[in-house]
Amino acid sequence: MNQHDLIVIGSGPGGYVAAVRAAQLGLNVACIEREPVLGGTCLRVGCIPSKALLESSEQYHAARHTLAAHGVKVGNVELDLPALLKRKDQLVGGLTKGVEALFKKNKITRYAGHGCLAGPGRVNVLSEPPAQAGGQAASGRDNVPSEPPAQAGGQANPTLARGARMVSLAISVELQAKHILIATGSKSAALKGVELDYDRIGTSTEALAYPEVPKHLVVIGAGYIGLELGTVWQRLGARVTVLEYLDRILPGTDAEIAAEALKLFKRQGIEFRLGARVTAARRDEGTKGRRHEGEGPECVVECEGHEPIHCDRVLLAVGRVPNTDGLGLENVRIKCDEKGRIPVDEHFATAAPGVYAIGDVIRGPMLAHKASEEGSACVEHLVTGYGHVNYDAIPAVCYTEPEIAGVGQTEDQLKQAGSAYRSGSFQFRGNGRARALGHIDGKVKILADAKTDRILGVHIIGPRAGDLIAEAAVAIEFGASSEDLARCTHAHPTLAEALKEAALAVAGRAIHA
Ligand code: NAD
Repeated sequence: MNQHDLIVIGSGPGGYVAAVRAAQLGLNVACIEREPVLGGTCLRVGCIPSKALLESSEQYHAARHTLAAHGVKVGNVELDLPALLKRKDQLVGGLTKGVEALFKKNKITRYAGHGCLAGPGRVNVLSEPPAQAGGQAASGRDNVPSEPPAQAGGQANPTLARGARMVSLAISVELQAKHILIATGSKSAALKGVELDYDRIGTSTEALAYPEVPKHLVVIGAGYIGLELGTVWQRLGARVTVLEYLDRILPGTDAEIAAEALKLFKRQGIEFRLGARVTAARRDEGTKGRRHEGEGPECVVECEGHEPIHCDRVLLAVGRVPNTDGLGLENVRIKCDEKGRIPVDEHFATAAPGVYAIGDVIRGPMLAHKASEEGSACVEHLVTGYGHVNYDAIPAVCYTEPEIAGVGQTEDQLKQAGSAYRSGSFQFRGNGRARALGHIDGKVKILADAKTDRILGVHIIGPRAGDLIAEAAVAIEFGASSEDLARCTHAHPTLAEALKEAALAVAGRAIHA
């Protein structure tokens, strides 16, 4: 029986950051991961590979459409999709190796296998997830190991950084620890009537590696995943139709910013059907098999009140659900809530003594950086008695072109709460740097308390919004007023000056508007 101070189940941005921080604080830490590589959904099939594709597709699009305006002639521009996908895979490979190196440096023991709670202070490492009723493997498709787990006998694992401690297990082995941290993340949500074949009709995992540019891609869900990946394939040449149940896109984003985003995406050529509840998606039997002859669509998507759409690929992106299958929660008497999340208190403690949970598997936004902050706060509280996450200052970014970012409260939330606020906006077209970049679409909007002037929310659509939002998150974290931000010197010419101008606009004194 192997004994540790802390066992972390899952090596995503929640789990691996918690493991590293706990090791820094002097704990003997183990991390159980069933995938052959570390880093979780974010590194393997989420944030990182999607950003690689967004960057590459943007370069391709620029070479075809905007470089000429800069006086750069590039002649015939051709897409080399295999090279584009290879670059993404190399990027992912490099970063997952980086996590291995962090484990080695911090002397974290890695167990390859499926972690299953066995009782108070006990975790079993299984070579496969336990079977569910009906004989199904208890796992979401995008979390099923793509390769078999490492072999028994401590055999060298090619993905392991040299010198890292590795224990490979074919049989169930029991570990003991004072503290157990569940950081098992989430998996793609299914939708009734959508017959996933993980090929033509798939999730974000498949959309990160289509072997050819789809002729017509139908995206179900206008959230972060649908819009980021829809943008990628549209830029690479696909016709993209987004079907969204609501009458708006990007639920949770400030409504005014989301409306501006919709206008810009439509201008780029993405088609939208709003108020479209998808009821079915399946292979189109009538035309199946004809594709090899270069004719005919392969899928059909049905939604209420609209004509069925025929297309060659479907991306289902209607949210994600917590990953708790086969975790053995019943062995420690943890009951999930109605959304399948593990209930926790303010220090991430579950109902079971010594068992904690963070990230996508608990309440709050499903964001990598939120999971990392919770991981650090959880283990810091365990060791030092202090550890805190400020949920009012968690930025969210959608990495489309233009990028969309927000932190704090939206205007709708303030209205609903009856809060008195003042608003200041500044358009990027009034910013010299945005003009030099040739990206003048979008704006910055700052919402401040009407009485105290404290910044309550900042929402940006425009160039590098994902980087610009950091200043706003720091301002909110430090309780800054809009005047504080307005009086800070911002370098010229920078995109960040748009934030200063929006802060000035709260008091009606923007200079360049
Ligand atoms: P989402 O919840 O953001 O959006 C899903 C959309 O699908 C919603 O707009 C919803 O109304 C729609 N929908 C639901 N049922 C439908 C139906 N039957 N027909 C048509 N539309 C329907 O989910 P997502 O985009 O899948 O993202 C999942 C999670 O991953 C989110 O929490 C997101 O924040 C996170 N994520 C974040 C980033 C990022 O930070 N850049 C990127 C990707 C994913």
